[in-house]
Parts: sequence; structure tokens; C-alpha cells
Amino acid sequence: MPISLYVHIPFCAARCPYCDFATAPASTPLRDRYLQTLAREIALRGADLGRPRLETVYFGGGTPSLLQPSEVEALRRALDDAFDVRPTEVTLEANPETLDAKRLGAFRTLLGLTRVSLGAQSLEANGLRALARTHDVADVLRSVELVRAAGGLSLNLDLILGWPGQSRDAWRADLERAVRLGPDHLSCYPLTLLHEPEQSVVNWPGSGWPSLARWRSRAAAGQPEDDVVADMYLDAERILAGAGYAHYEIANWARPGHESRHNLVYWRDGDWVGVGLGAHSHLGGTRSWNDGRLATYIERWSAGAPELDSRPGDAAETAILALRLREGLRVTELAARYGAPAADDVRDRLRGLDGAGLLRWRGERVSLTRRGRLLSNEVFVRLV
Ligand code: SF4
Repeated sequence: MPISLYVHIPFCAARCPYCDFATAPASTPLRDRYLQTLAREIALRGADLGRPRLETVYFGGGTPSLLQPSEVEALRRALDDAFDVRPTEVTLEANPETLDAKRLGAFRTLLGLTRVSLGAQSLEANGLRALARTHDVADVLRSVELVRAAGGLSLNLDLILGWPGQSRDAWRADLERAVRLGPDHLSCYPLTLLHEPEQSVVNWPGSGWPSLARWRSRAAAGQPEDDVVADMYLDAERILAGAGYAHYEIANWARPGHESRHNLVYWRDGDWVGVGLGAHSHLGGTRSWNDGRLATYIERWSAGAPELDSRPGDAAETAILALRLREGLRVTELAARYGAPAADDVRDRLRGLDGAGLLRWRGERVSLTRRGRLLSNEVFVRLV
């Protein structure tokens, strides 16, 4: 059976203060050892799975667009040895200030790149400042031009809504500027500021948790109220529908044929292997994950295939992922996978919301209404 592969490249030029991904400084002395360990993990995971064909590959981070062509070449060799590499979609997450023709060409030639996901975040200088990003609007425009000039690549732009000081007018202007750039796909995520340190804080000596926590408290105090953010979300639905984008997942819009096949595997709760720092996998109903601390990750995989932290997946989690999609959840599929009692439990919990206008039922298929998309957490907490 073909599977999907996620490859985590944790390196970033700087740490964005709102970010909770597993990251590490691009200049870390452990960079080479990380990449060697990653190749080792790829070899061991591929062998363990019987060298399956890869259906989709996603290079995420961190900032995978920071990799040098020689590092991309080493990755290609590791992937070729471990897997049957004939994917239908290969995505590269890129930061606007790091993308150049040389790196883009290396990913294209060596790894069969088909899609670039550009972390624009905002097309307004105020927005990029409020998010403490290190790129400017000109970097975004230059990167979009670069991807377009390469030809034949599908382009996603990531935008963040609800940054400190953002007005609804500013958000609408951001969206309209983004649409004018003509991306094939847009992801619009509200700024969420977690107030607990994640494992990978230790990878950034000198930019420790106390200063990040202070930044987050200040930023949270300046964020728009929840009802303004809800209006911003409705603005996105209206403006992007008007521009021909289908709203296929709570935070994702695409032109026909440009939906992210890789991310659809996550939302449909399919099988994928995640390799690298803090990467998660879902295989045969079990979820497992790597450690998010750079030195620990290297140490564990250097000694052979470690016992990964893991837990069984469950019906509620599968239901929540499916409800994120416009196509929604078919409850009978839960029964086939987890048994009738688990499916009945999910159905009963969702039926408990009848009358709230959050869900639409068509036989055994259920999906979020527009109100449900706005208040999705109210639906999801019912299932947990
Ligand atoms: S560039 Fe992306 S992954 Fe890196 S710190 Fe910033 S938000 Fe996080």
C-alpha cells in the first residue's frame, strides 16, 4: 500500500515568538548530525515498512527551504534507498526570505517538487512587524514571482488572522492583496498563543521561555476580540468564495484540483510516516511521535530504532479530523473501523447538539454548518 511521508527540517533563521513547532537554529553545531540522523531514521523506517511506494511527500518545518542543494541531494539518496519514490505530490514549506532559484531548482530536480507552501503570514508591513517576522512584503512578492517563473508548481500562501492590532479592514485588505497574487491555495489560521513552553525550547539556547512568555502575554493583550476574529473568518469565506476558491477544510481554500493531497491524508485519518524532530506518524491505527529535543532525537536514533512514544487512535479523534472537512464524517465508516459501540457513542454525542444549528446531517453523513465552522470547538469538545 502506498503511504505518505512527512519530513521535518527543524532549522529556522530565527525563532518566531508565537511558534510552537519543533524548531532549532539554522546555525546549530548539531545541523550535520541532525541530517545524518534523519537519513538513518529514513533508512530504518523504510526498511521496517518493506520499502513502500510514497504517494505524497511533505517537507515541513522549521524552514526546509533553508537546506543547501548538497543537503537536498543527501536527502534524495536516503529516500531513494528506503522507499519507492514515485509520489503524485511533493510539497516544500518555504519562508519568503530563504527561497531562491538555486534551492527551488534543487528541490525540483532532485525531489520532484510539485507544490510550494509559502509562509507569507501577512502582506502588510504592520502585520509582519506585529508577528515579529524577519521577512518583509517585498520578500513575499519576490518568492511568489520565483515560484511562478519556475512554472508548473502549485502555490499555497499561509496567512495569519487576529495578530495584535489587526483591524477587520486590515484583514480584508490582506486577503484582497493575497488574492491578487493568484495563489492556487490559501491557508488562513487564527493566531493562537500557547502559554506553556514546548519541548523544543531547549533547542534555542539564549532565547528561553521567559522572554517568549512575556512576548506572548503582550501580544495576547493586543489581539482583536473573539467576535472580531469570527467576522474576519466570515470575511475570508466571502472574499475567497468570490475569487473562485472552494472552502474544503476549516482553514483551507483551494482552486479546483489544488487541494493539498498530503494534508487530506491527515484529515481523512489515513496512514503516514513522519520522520525527524518531533514528527508524528499514524500507521495501522497507532499514533507515534519523535522527541522534540534536538540532542535527544539524535541520541535515540543514533543507537538504532528506538521505541517511540505511542498510543492507539480513537473514534473521537477520527471524527474531529473528518469534521474539519467540508465533506464531513460518515458515521458508518467509524463503525467499520472502531466497532459499532464507538460509532454509536460519536453519533449520540453529535445528536446531542441537534437544534444548535452547528451540524448538518444527510443520512449517516454529518458536516459542520457555517455556524459550526465558526464554533467548531464547541462541537469538538463534545467528542473528547
Ligand atoms: S519560521 Fe515558521 S517554523 Fe520557524 S520559528 Fe517562524 S513560524 Fe516557526
